[in-house]
Amino acid sequence: MKKIVKFGGSSLANAEQFQKVGEIIRSDESRRYVVPSAPGKRFDGDTKVTDLLYKCYNTAVEGEDFIPILQEIKGRYYEIIRGLNLDLSLEDEFAQIEADFKAQAGTDYAASRGEFLNGKVMAAYLGYEFVDAADVIRFDKNGNLDAEKTDRLLSKKLAKCEHAVIPGFYGAGEDGKVKTFSRGGSDVTGSLVAKAIKADLYENWTDVSGFLVTDPRIVKNPEVIESITYRELRELSYMGATVLHEDAIFPVRRAGIPINIRNTNAPADKGTLIVEATCYQPKYTITGIAGTDGFAAITIEKAMMNSEVGFCRKVLQVFEDNGVSIEHMPSGIDTMTIFVHKDKFEEKEQQILAGIHKAVDPDHIELESDLALIAIVGRGMKSTRGTAGRIFSALAHAHINVKMIDQGSSELNIIVGVRHDDFKNAIKALYEIFVLTQI
Ligand code: ASP
Repeated sequence: MKKIVKFGGSSLANAEQFQKVGEIIRSDESRRYVVPSAPGKRFDGDTKVTDLLYKCYNTAVEGEDFIPILQEIKGRYYEIIRGLNLDLSLEDEFAQIEADFKAQAGTDYAASRGEFLNGKVMAAYLGYEFVDAADVIRFDKNGNLDAEKTDRLLSKKLAKCEHAVIPGFYGAGEDGKVKTFSRGGSDVTGSLVAKAIKADLYENWTDVSGFLVTDPRIVKNPEVIESITYRELRELSYMGATVLHEDAIFPVRRAGIPINIRNTNAPADKGTLIVEATCYQPKYTITGIAGTDGFAAITIEKAMMNSEVGFCRKVLQVFEDNGVSIEHMPSGIDTMTIFVHKDKFEEKEQQILAGIHKAVDPDHIELESDLALIAIVGRGMKSTRGTAGRIFSALAHAHINVKMIDQGSSELNIIVGVRHDDFKNAIKALYEIFVLTQI
């Protein structure tokens, strides 16, 4: 059994957190490959090391004195090293970083040092081999991940290591220049390592006990999802639920490796298991509820629209020409409505309206902004009658008007559109009916 364990910044923010991580790793000998993030916030209002590095490097680029910020960063690592009683010096590494910042080695290089240094500390703490991600995670000339090359380099290198620490978040191009993933990218590193070593499980340790049924900012203490499929996760993430970096899913999904989201501060909790497919019946009809605010709807009305060949295509072309992505498109016989992100639409509003007039000569166009979309997602819906009925009665009882409904033929999710002001109450009402009362 081989497991890869990735720890987020809050799990590695100080020596105390490192000790918890050490106990977790040592309690299971199959946890052989470790991907650390940079130290995160130790308390509310603290600054992540990655953010300090960005600030430090920008100061260097502006030609100002960046040494005090570099000292602050150094202090963060030595606080951990001392707290763990390690005999480790990072003086050479910091001297190199200082020289590289002076030589303006690049923003990505600067940000990557958070993980690089934490990897050094972690390797010393565990007695594992340190593998620099710049040697094994490859980016192509366009700055995109070279997945094949990475897989080859990683599997070749790790085949020779019984135990290893591979820092998250970065890799390098063919020319050796360091490049990072987007923020939160250590999740992606974990996924690439999992695939390369053909892991049985990818454990992703964070500060919550898994993926929650809904947003804890809206519903107090929502339940944890025990198991979720990759498809369900994708639907929920699209609607704004975040625990994992989106790009972390593809490598492991294709290789059939499950991801287990776990809580460093509550290691006995089972967390959420993310799998390709499962016979395991979800506890409730729905797996999760997620929503996002800030949509606008454009309703186009024209008599006999249904018989006009190419009508929809012409309308969609206008959006494409203006670079605005369409999120949903419910339609009636003589109307079609297009949901778009409000911010993106507002920039091009008048061009798009003029374009639609020109393209299809509509009878009427109506605009509505401040809409929210809510996705009710669950593989259990397929075999259950009346899910839509329950959604509508829950919303009706909460005095919420449904502006739109969209159910995919896969019966994996139902999306409802509501007014911005009703957004939170709608989520509360849906959680209540599906999870609390289970009517
Ligand atoms: N340290 C990086 C960030 O703060 C990457 C990561 O934590 O995954 O975004």
